Amino acid sequence: MKSSAPIATHYDAVIVGARVAGASTALLLARAGLSVLAVDRSARGSDTTSTHALMRPGLMQLHRWGVLPRLVAAGTPPIRQTTFHYGTEALEVAIKPRDGVEALYSPRRTVLDRVLADTAADAGAQVVHGVVVDEVVRSSSGRVGGVRLTDTAGETRHVEAGIVIGADGARSGIARAVGAEVLRAGRHAGTILYGHWRGLPLDGTHWYFGKDVAAGAIPTNDGQACVFAAMRGERYTAGSARSLDALFSEVVAANDAALARMVDAAEREGKLHPFPGRPGFIRQAWGPGWALVGDAECFKDPITAHGMSDALRDAELLAQAVVAGTDEAFSAYQKTRDAFAGEFLDLSDEIASFGWDFERIKVLHHRLSRLMGREEDLIRSLDGVPRPAEALA
Ligand SMILES: Cc1cc2nc3c(=O)[nH]c(=O)nc-3n(C[C@H](O)[C@H](O)[C@H](O)COP(=O)(O)OP(=O)(O)OC[C@H]3O[C@@H](n4cnc5c(N)ncnc54)[C@H](O)[C@@H]3O)c2cc1C
Repeated sequence: MKSSAPIATHYDAVIVGARVAGASTALLLARAGLSVLAVDRSARGSDTTSTHALMRPGLMQLHRWGVLPRLVAAGTPPIRQTTFHYGTEALEVAIKPRDGVEALYSPRRTVLDRVLADTAADAGAQVVHGVVVDEVVRSSSGRVGGVRLTDTAGETRHVEAGIVIGADGARSGIARAVGAEVLRAGRHAGTILYGHWRGLPLDGTHWYFGKDVAAGAIPTNDGQACVFAAMRGERYTAGSARSLDALFSEVVAANDAALARMVDAAEREGKLHPFPGRPGFIRQAWGPGWALVGDAECFKDPITAHGMSDALRDAELLAQAVVAGTDEAFSAYQKTRDAFAGEFLDLSDEIASFGWDFERIKVLHHRLSRLMGREEDLIRSLDGVPRPAEALA
């Protein structure tokens, strides 16, 4: 279905938010034969807050869905080595090709979200940017049955839906409208400052952990690297009142003097982006006529760089549930989500506390790596999203 087609009055699924979670869900549901409308208030191909790192489980899905070649064709550089710096100790990890994933990739969101939305549209979903959903509509039984939206022409209309999916980010208006309960909440919120540099001589991704600070350097599109500096909220509040640039340089240097020299010698593209921090949460993921996916259902401190990979995993789990269409299937979606989300939340929360020493952060990273290994097993076990007739057979 062409995205320029007029918005219809009824869809099997209306998805609010068309970035990594929403566009992926739209893609899978459209391929399963459902009629899908995915809308986003932002422009197609626009940027959003991110340091871009995708983990192997998410890349395995993008490979299976045929999206990874499009990211590579868009010039996303392969990352064949990751180095963890704990103070002066450096541990190099070679990225081995497996499961169709030759290397790691960290696409800009201007690339990833656009490619996912375009692939969803190619699969038959109607993906419309510049559209705002401002209300969830319920039937007399209380079941969610559609949305009210304001289209690109500024006209308000009602659209009926078999299911309304909130893929509208951590501050999800859909979660609020349906009263999705917060099941678990994190306690800590780190602060991140990041920007993009041209000319950083990186041999892969580098993650740095110092005393009360962390940083990272991540190769991305257009010959640029994203460099971030992470710290406790108090340090950000005190330092940002002086100068964001001075605070960024101070935190990068506190992590690693060589990184600080490299950044000084390179050319920054654009401004520094501050993320003031938000404690993690896990929300109830579904109810009568609605479901949540991505940051809307589960948000963690970004220090573990796993939000997008979580969103991809949950998009596939949710798409399977929507196609099956039973309460049991939606319960299974939430149960499988919880089997990963709780531990990711705990690990991210502890790392975001900056209350660790080098021995402890290594233990936390080891646990993260084991958890991602289990996530890879899950992704290998998923046999795609069946078409509705197959689901009923
Ligand atoms: C500083 C920072 C760095 C990060 N770095 C990484 C990283 O390196 N790796 C990683 O995996 N994750 C990272 N993350 C997390 C990652 O950005 C999120 O997990 C991811 O963006 C979630 O995608 P999403 O599609 O669920 O939501 P979002 O990306 O938040 O998209 C939601 C969309 O919904 C739209 N929307 C909202 N309300 C409405 C409405 N009413 N009507 C229409 N549209 C609406 C919004 O415009 C938005 O485009 C980072 C996060 C932060 C804050």
